[in-house]
Amino acid sequence: METVRGIILGVSRFSESSAVVSIFAEKHGRLTGLAKGAYRRGSPYAGALELFAFCEFTVSIRKNREMQTLTGCTIIDYFGNIRADAGKIAAAETSIELIRTTLHEGEPLPNLFTLLRAFLERLNKKCEYSNDWLIRMCWLFILHFLKVMGFGPEFGVCVRCGESELKGLTAVSPSYGGVLCSRCGVGGDSVRWIPSEVLERIAKLYSSKAEQLANFPEIEKKLMDNLITDLLKVHFEKNFRLESLAMLYSSNGG
Ligand SMILES: [Zn+2]
Repeated sequence: METVRGIILGVSRFSESSAVVSIFAEKHGRLTGLAKGAYRRGSPYAGALELFAFCEFTVSIRKNREMQTLTGCTIIDYFGNIRADAGKIAAAETSIELIRTTLHEGEPLPNLFTLLRAFLERLNKKCEYSNDWLIRMCWLFILHFLKVMGFGPEFGVCVRCGESELKGLTAVSPSYGGVLCSRCGVGGDSVRWIPSEVLERIAKLYSSKAEQLANFPEIEKKLMDNLITDLLKVHFEKNFRLESLAMLYSSNGG
């Protein structure tokens, strides 16, 4: 038996009384566990098996087994303030959705775990905030997610020639992993042209902390969303549409 701390990525019913729990574990990475009797009255999992709950599980881990066996669970942090707010729930679910759709089992990613935990803890803090702040928090999380996974985009200098004077329309190439100067960008495959002042804002967002995102110059949502989608698509070879993030976009200003 092993004690495993992890954040819940998903829960589904396995049988009348059992649940399959997808966990992003601090030390093991993603793992799937069978919680027998989870839906029985008085089960040790009562109230714990919720999306993005941070729990300590007792697990019997056997390598090369598709599903591990869970025998117990204690909540470490339920993130109650997030759960009291639909916007915050959508932001938290954006992070969970991203991790669920990109991570494979058996790949330990402790730095990503630290990032996710910090993101949830920050969302859980009581503070005045706007829907735009939640959206910028999600963008920041996704950019940092890319960085932790080794695909952090470069917005400051041309990724081909190192040119740092970027003026006017600047090309962003997801496959090159960042911006290209006007010379290198011409004729480039699947580049997106973005005004340099918008890129500066994106670069500023990338280097900001949560507190600094409260009053932040506007970045067009469609443009940023396309950019993020392109970056994720190149690295994870999937068509990305983060449903929870789309919910946040649509709840903005009705
Ligand atoms: Zn260049």
